Amino acid sequence: MVESGETDWVSRFADEVISEAERRAPGKPVVCASGLSPSGPIHLGNLREVMTPHLVADEIRRRGVECVHLLSWDDYDRFRRVPAGVDPSWAEHIGKPLTSVPAPPGSPYGNWAEHFKAPMIEALRQLGVEYHGISQTEQYTKGAYREQILLAVRERARIDAVLSRYRTKQAAQQVEEYFPYKPYCELCERDLTTVTAYDDATTELAYTCECGFGETVRLAEHDRGKLVWKVDWPMRWAYEGVAFEPSGVDHHSPGSAWIVGGQIVGEVFGGRQPIGPMYAFVGITGMAKMSSSKGDVPTPSDALEIMEVPVLRWLYARRKPAQSFKIAFDQEIQRLYDEWDALGRKVAEGHAQPAELAAYSRAVSTAAGPLPATPHPVPYRTLASIVDITTGDADQTLRILRDLDAIGTLDEARPRLDRAQRWVDGHVPADQRTRVRDEPDEELLDSLGAGEREALRLLADGLDDWSPAGLTTLVYGVPKIQAGLPADAEATPELKAAQRAFFALLYKLLVGRDTGPRLPTLLLAVGADRVRKLVGA
Ligand SMILES: [Zn+2]
Repeated sequence: MVESGETDWVSRFADEVISEAERRAPGKPVVCASGLSPSGPIHLGNLREVMTPHLVADEIRRRGVECVHLLSWDDYDRFRRVPAGVDPSWAEHIGKPLTSVPAPPGSPYGNWAEHFKAPMIEALRQLGVEYHGISQTEQYTKGAYREQILLAVRERARIDAVLSRYRTKQAAQQVEEYFPYKPYCELCERDLTTVTAYDDATTELAYTCECGFGETVRLAEHDRGKLVWKVDWPMRWAYEGVAFEPSGVDHHSPGSAWIVGGQIVGEVFGGRQPIGPMYAFVGITGMAKMSSSKGDVPTPSDALEIMEVPVLRWLYARRKPAQSFKIAFDQEIQRLYDEWDALGRKVAEGHAQPAELAAYSRAVSTAAGPLPATPHPVPYRTLASIVDITTGDADQTLRILRDLDAIGTLDEARPRLDRAQRWVDGHVPADQRTRVRDEPDEELLDSLGAGEREALRLLADGLDDWSPAGLTTLVYGVPKIQAGLPADAEATPELKAAQRAFFALLYKLLVGRDTGPRLPTLLLAVGADRVRKLVGA
């Protein structure tokens, strides 16, 4: 387990947040917060909004301190635009709360927001993220923020003064009387409304809507509207007592919600801004080409299709929030897995540095316990090669894994095996897939010289030692025998060139290309009889 102290960025924030929370609200649970808008598919890049407070909240819990991670679903925000792939008739819903917009056709969910929340909720469950979800629709429509709304409206001149510090002169001239509350129209449900009068004494509010409707309501009883974003956010910091809430770089420019909110929370709501690091952009590689045809965006569920939970968690745990990184859907995922397995060995051998060990521990477990792991983790690139060659055939895959790594059942290699399978099926372009030849390449075989024929015969004769180590020795050894060198001969440039030429010949004969999966893996996958047939020996 992770000890407290200066081991990594998570520990440092946990130290800071615990002492700050203790100063602000002694004896109460520490509050960390995230916010997500279910306005469409929730992009994989937005997972950092949840993972950053999750890791800090989890560290606080590991120390035995009570901590709650609030996840605000900003589902009372307006529907802004119809995404690509959805019927253009949905444009009639622009301006309604996301929870009042029908879900896309065929969805089992009751509304737009629920439809796009659902896959995120499932991904967070898999990732071991423990949180308390809050629907802002529910909060606003049940009047939870009534006092805060009345306060913000009463203090509208003060809020306007804060905002004006950041307005350009031109904008300042254009601005009408400022009102921090936006009603949703009673008739059409849209927010195309203008507040035309407000009486502070009675809280009577008159508005008109672009649809032609207009009415006067009492704000003290009105539950169909919301505070504008730059007031809503600091209101919730104060209401929820948030001690830690990171946000994206786009919220940190002058006049942006974080900067303005930091002043409004104290000057209006008597609260304090959370400790809130700015987190950097998370890029995605190798997904654009694959997904553009579907017209959608990479989501956390897409990442979990191809990588195990601890690996995805590790990406967030090992980088400070200010560092950007990329999530790979292309060949890079194999290198990522090599790094992950190397770290696992270091940890097992007791050689990991404290920060590495902390990141590893946060990846494989939470305060609630260990996360699902693959019992027998065969290297991802090996699994990818095997499922590529066998096209996923379970019997063949098991036979190879048994020969390769003494695996007894496929379940021992899961869930990593399934992730590698989905990566090969979904993200390896067709021209990079491996197709083992059915019939020998007679033309190539006929064209070979005596030395090449001898090499293939030596290979065929040596296939008896049917193990990864035996086959590795064999493929490197054939050129040594031909050069009259002992099996343990040092690799000279000449020998290396001969080995490369021999490997290229084998790939040509077995898979019809110059390269392919590692040869011992490929030979194991193809099987001894078929190898003999394809090399003409
Ligand atoms: Zn209306």
